[in-house]
Amino acid sequence: MEFVDYAVIRVKAGDGGDGAVSFHREKYVAAGGPDGGDGGKGGDVIFVVDDSMSTLLDFRYKRKYFAEKGQNGGAKRCTGRNAPDLVVKVPRGTVVTDKATGRIIADMSDSEPHIIAAGGKGGKGNARFATPTRQIPRFSKPGFPGEEYEISLELKLLADVGLVGFPNVGKSTLISVVSAAKPKIANYHFTTLTPVLGVVSAGEGKSFVMADIPGLIEGASEGAGLGHEFLRHVDRCRLIVHIVDVSGSEDRDPKEDFEKINLELSRFSSDLAGRKQIIAANKCDIATPEQIADFRSFVESKGLELFEISAATTGGTDKLVSAIAAELDKLPPVRIYEAEPKPMPIDDKTGFGEKFEITRGDDAVFYVTAPWLEHIMRTIDMDDYSSLQYFQKMLKNTGIIARLEEMGIKEGDTVDILGFEFDFVF
Ligand code: GDP
Ligand code: MG
Repeated sequence: MEFVDYAVIRVKAGDGGDGAVSFHREKYVAAGGPDGGDGGKGGDVIFVVDDSMSTLLDFRYKRKYFAEKGQNGGAKRCTGRNAPDLVVKVPRGTVVTDKATGRIIADMSDSEPHIIAAGGKGGKGNARFATPTRQIPRFSKPGFPGEEYEISLELKLLADVGLVGFPNVGKSTLISVVSAAKPKIANYHFTTLTPVLGVVSAGEGKSFVMADIPGLIEGASEGAGLGHEFLRHVDRCRLIVHIVDVSGSEDRDPKEDFEKINLELSRFSSDLAGRKQIIAANKCDIATPEQIADFRSFVESKGLELFEISAATTGGTDKLVSAIAAELDKLPPVRIYEAEPKPMPIDDKTGFGEKFEITRGDDAVFYVTAPWLEHIMRTIDMDDYSSLQYFQKMLKNTGIIARLEEMGIKEGDTVDILGFEFDFVF
């Protein structure tokens, strides 16, 4: 199976249903009171963690997740049905970000459902607008629009320890001997295409999660090859265990390898470069004492600690595991990304949103446009006085009138709202 840890998708919550305009009718009763019901709420787009998922592959094929609109209100004060929520499953550790603003919407690391896009409330029916002076309201409110975002999904593994190192140094072998994880082990590069998580028990009821991160390659931080993708997984690790093949069994120089990997980490992020590292010299079973001593002095000259191991024979791995557990005790817990608050809408009272555009044409007409206005125009009855009054109030509350005045509108000037023309009166 292909491993995918990044995807961009579009989510759209359902709009609220429109309020109804309706009047009570009974036999022999000419005109009853208003009885238009409210619209139902639009469906939310909700994410939940599914632990049987380990990649974002599904999101490469399906990129649109739209919840349904709430039902419109009906006659006899019938409230429209709320639309069902759209529940989307994601792997644990998925970080959800709003592409347009970079705002983190949710970190899917816990088992709570998270609302990614909230459905719009239903609009009020005309039954709500009857007052002693306005007994025949011929208008209702449209449903509120559901939230819509283009979002990025990034799978950032939740592991305490990340194993990094060149291909074939023995990362998969190590995780297979210290945990129950069974990654593929083979003597060729990039055997590990999917990160593998293993739970390592460190005695006395202590345990930690280790991730076998696929081999980094040179130029990985610039996006060449596989590496860049996989660096994402080290992002949350509290501790990096850096493994080198001290025997140089592939004609590699362990010192050079060590520097190259660290360079890649620092190119990816300075945060990663500063992450605490433990160094493990692997394949000690086939290395010469000189090779080991040489590498040891190199590592110790940097003030770092070296552990000699042989993943193949499990020699030294217990000591390494204890050292990792002791180090983790001193480190802060796995990083969880805080969801960031939504920017506050300026005019929440009307709920229509604040954005509109007014331009003055060559014909001196003031043209007003806004997507939400389209929605409103549907429910306005231009032949009805109270409906027009409501419309007027809405233009005032949303700041459109103020803007027109700023632009120097005069009594009798023409205003065009999505094709409807009016003479302006103060
Ligand atoms: P990875 O690419 O870093 O995951 O490396 P693997 O764990 O797949 O190992 C690559 C090759 O090195 C395999 O053939 C392993 O059997 C071998 N290997 C791993 N650890 C040791 C070790 O400690 N000693 C010896 N001699 N070979 C090892
Ligand atoms: Mg491997």
